Amino acid sequence: MGGLSKATSGWRGRLLFGYAVVVMVLAAVWTFSLLGPVSQALEDRQREVLLSVANAASVALDASDLPDSEVLDRIATSERLRITLISRDGSVLAESSEDGEMANHADRPEVVSALGGETGFDRRVSETDGVEYLYVAVPCVVEGRSGALRVSMPVTQANADMRRFYWTSFALLAAALLLSVGTAWLSFTRASEPVSRLERMRTDFVANASHELKTPVAGIRLLTESIRQASDMGDAAAVDEFAQRLDRESLRLQSLVTDLMDLSRVEGELHPAMGAESCDLLTVVGTSFETHRHRALSKGLAFTLDEDVPDGESCRVRLSVANATLLVDNLLDNALTYTEKGSVRVRLASDGAAATLEVADTGIGIPPADQDRVFERFYRVDTARSREAGGTGLGLSLVRNTVSRGGGTIELESTVGKGSTFRVTLPLT
Ligand code: ADP
Repeated sequence: MGGLSKATSGWRGRLLFGYAVVVMVLAAVWTFSLLGPVSQALEDRQREVLLSVANAASVALDASDLPDSEVLDRIATSERLRITLISRDGSVLAESSEDGEMANHADRPEVVSALGGETGFDRRVSETDGVEYLYVAVPCVVEGRSGALRVSMPVTQANADMRRFYWTSFALLAAALLLSVGTAWLSFTRASEPVSRLERMRTDFVANASHELKTPVAGIRLLTESIRQASDMGDAAAVDEFAQRLDRESLRLQSLVTDLMDLSRVEGELHPAMGAESCDLLTVVGTSFETHRHRALSKGLAFTLDEDVPDGESCRVRLSVANATLLVDNLLDNALTYTEKGSVRVRLASDGAAATLEVADTGIGIPPADQDRVFERFYRVDTARSREAGGTGLGLSLVRNTVSRGGGTIELESTVGKGSTFRVTLPLT
């Protein structure tokens, strides 16, 4: 088991690592495929802003009586831009910034376009201050002659926007990676839980069943040997005694095999919601009661059946006849096995929605600490007593399984030395 779980966790670790790598690669591809379009979109947006400032400045120059440089200065200050008015020959006529360059602008790409009557764009490092600028120039009319109006903006702002975008993408990428790896890890551990529990239950069951089977088989082999020896010695009384014990051991073996087969049948059946048979509990209880009457009377117990079902109505539950019989037989068997004096009373009632079956005895009772555990497979309060009585320790687990297949519940009330009451409630079909 240790080796198996180690191998499983190694396998899981490799799968988790592979998953993380795939998520990382996909997220990186996704982010980098976005970076190009996003930086382009940012630059486009800035060009649009510059263009609209240039158009507005051109209109303002035309309309204002103030000196050109003052008009440009006012617009540039409010927009934190540099605006230059350039004449047809490329000389600077007015500049928003006083320390602006005064060199001839005729060869600047954006100015060339604007003087040619088109909007011009460019992005380059300025020869004057060494800062990278984004330039937009539009054609305009200066003192009756055509010229160009240029707006420029340092790209540091655009770079800051891009840097913010990179960091946000990186943070989102890391968060997505953590989240997906965490989710994968959780789902791996959760998914493996029930499997290992199931695995453990199965191993426990096989160990318990083998142990239970080994005892009567060993007993039978020993008794066969004893019978042979007693027979060789001509001891008829001993042969008879051993033969009776052999009979008891083989009966035990038989009931164990029957219970194991019942258990695998009940557990292997489909859930009732997926279309199971139904049966009339009234008939099943009546038949089982009659089957057990002789045993109860031979023990000197009061044995009664009380039916509280409206006249003419049946008590149909979602159980096959075989399963319902198994349920009732096991409860009656136990009540008669663990009761030496007093009574075993059976009561079946229906309220139109559910049937309630109660089996109440005045037997040895079950200690509070064992009351939940008696429904586990192979659990017995008193192993020797149960074995002596031919019990297998599987009866109540079969009962609980059957009840849950029928969509019902089972309750137990018990007081040591006073008796036990098992109450089964099953919904009517
Ligand atoms: P078993 O075959 O041993 O009776 P069950 O699964 O039917 O196995 O019951 C489990 C244990 O619960 C029994 O061994 C017994 O100790 C206890 N038990 C079940 N029914 C009763 C009862 N009516 N009165 C007292 N003890 C009971």
